[in-house]
Amino acid sequence: MPQVPARAQDEDVAQMLDDAAMAFEKKYERVEKKPLGEGTYGEVYKAVDRATNTVVAMKRMKLDQEDEGVPSTAIREVSLLKELNHPNIVKLMDVFCSQKKLFLIFEFVEQDMKKYFKLHGYSQISPSGPKQWTLPQNIIKSFIFQLLRGVEYCHSHRIVHRDLKPQNLLIDKHGHLKIADFGLARAFAIPIPKYTHEVVTVWYRAPEILLGSQKYSIMVDVWSAGAIFGELATGQPMFPGDSEIDTIFKIFQKLGTPDDGVWKGIDALPDFKKTFPKWKTKGLDKIEGVATALGPQGVKLLEGLLKYQPHERISCRASLEHPYFEDVDHSIIPSVAHCEDEDML
Ligand code: AMP
Repeated sequence: MPQVPARAQDEDVAQMLDDAAMAFEKKYERVEKKPLGEGTYGEVYKAVDRATNTVVAMKRMKLDQEDEGVPSTAIREVSLLKELNHPNIVKLMDVFCSQKKLFLIFEFVEQDMKKYFKLHGYSQISPSGPKQWTLPQNIIKSFIFQLLRGVEYCHSHRIVHRDLKPQNLLIDKHGHLKIADFGLARAFAIPIPKYTHEVVTVWYRAPEILLGSQKYSIMVDVWSAGAIFGELATGQPMFPGDSEIDTIFKIFQKLGTPDDGVWKGIDALPDFKKTFPKWKTKGLDKIEGVATALGPQGVKLLEGLLKYQPHERISCRASLEHPYFEDVDHSIIPSVAHCEDEDML
């Protein structure tokens, strides 16, 4: 058999992949030049699936030229994510990878929670006064319920998010909440790729991660849900640090500086220092607006989500049964009936 030089083979494969990438870009036509937003893993554009005329969101990630493209583990993870089917998870519809770029096609959702807050979170109480946070209690309850339900679905499929924050919670026109970027942290492995310009927020990050723990569990998502719940109640981020250590101190100021009695083994975490300032907690219900917006049961749920010791945090499954949700308004929550898919569990 005639021998083809290895170099020529490589170039042929590269050319084939680039052609396929162009064909994929034609399948989905970008409708706006300006990206809808930039996330941790790449820019997101509004596009149209030419075959069906449906609007989609195209996430495009440039791959590092020095690397050998997307690792096979990432491809495996992403194919797993394609199987996820839940009304509170943004549907990953299509995936394509060339040597230089990775494209993910998602269902299009109108706005993210950050934008929703700006548009719907505040009202003018008095004609001359400042705007105040007035997100209705039934909307707060519905959002946190949908968030916990989506997270529970992914946890039951052994997928952890690791970067839940209002920017990657999308809200459609019916008030349905959909979680974006689920599983991408694992697929692309932290640290975050060099090609992102986004300043990665650490406000929603669990304390065990901030303190340098190498081992962490699905409970990191429960913490983030707690931080988001507090923000839904007050309109203010719970722990808005400008660095990891500043975020840790913001957590300690609200929840009290933990010691080995409160959090067994904290002394052994790489970034914990015995010399950290010792703050005492006043209680989460003392944070302005929390008790009024959440009521006593909501405060208890918030406390359960924000426990220091990961294994003491309430699981998503248990949280959905919490008395706070007894009167949750099901008329504004999408039904899961048509997409429960038990064989994946
Ligand atoms: P992400 O990388 O998921 O954090 O996305 C960055 C931004 O892009 C978000 O804050 C949204 O504004 C926008 N975005 C992400 N996914 C979608 C989607 N499926 N539909 C519409 N906009 C999206």
